[in-house]
Amino acid sequence: MATYFISDLHLQASQAKVAQGFLDFVASLEDAEALYILGDFFEFWIGDDYSDPFVESIKTALKTASTQYPVYFMHGNRDFMIGQAFADETGMSLLEDPCVVTVEGRQVLLMHGDSLCTRDEVYMRMRPLLRNPTWQASMLEKSIEERLVIAQNARMESATKDPKMADSEIMDVTPDAVVKAMDDAGVDLLIHGHTHRPKVHTHQLELKEGSRMVLGDWHEDKGWMIKACNGKFELLSLAL
Ligand code: MN
Repeated sequence: MATYFISDLHLQASQAKVAQGFLDFVASLEDAEALYILGDFFEFWIGDDYSDPFVESIKTALKTASTQYPVYFMHGNRDFMIGQAFADETGMSLLEDPCVVTVEGRQVLLMHGDSLCTRDEVYMRMRPLLRNPTWQASMLEKSIEERLVIAQNARMESATKDPKMADSEIMDVTPDAVVKAMDDAGVDLLIHGHTHRPKVHTHQLELKEGSRMVLGDWHEDKGWMIKACNGKFELLSLAL
């Protein structure tokens, strides 16, 4: 049995190969004990009341998967509007960011990763608002058409500061924020995504050495996952 972690699929109708890659991936997990989706699963999400054939195909896959193994979902900075209705419909459980889970007998801190990029001061100031239930409720009162326009504008704005394009220092995590998050949680293993920089890092924590495993984004013909099995955590790429 194995536990799987993925993030940053940025699912959208225009990226059919990535979507098919996800459908194939969830269908292939015969030995899964659990699947953790750590945010930016969708490129954008304007509310659980919106759907289309693309969204329905993903929902169906999640629903099928969650009858076979538990599926856990943590919000990213793109899909923070995913709500309890979507979770109920697909059988997923929503996770807080950050949260600590026990996998392979090990305490693991899970985060999307955006909250670790503390040098992106503009976003860090905006983040609490985007996660505020009152602000989200006021967004959901707007029509679907209005919300699609807002999402489109936000995506155009963030396209100019794409992690790969923007100043690399700002868009990567702050090492001090990593150490603090891991020491606060009392763990020596952190798994996150967001930065699109798949790699395993070592950090000197207060009392011990810690590992930080960074998931990669899925695009064109390549995806990333972390597979935990037999006491081992491995960062693996997969062909889509
Ligand atoms: Mn992100």
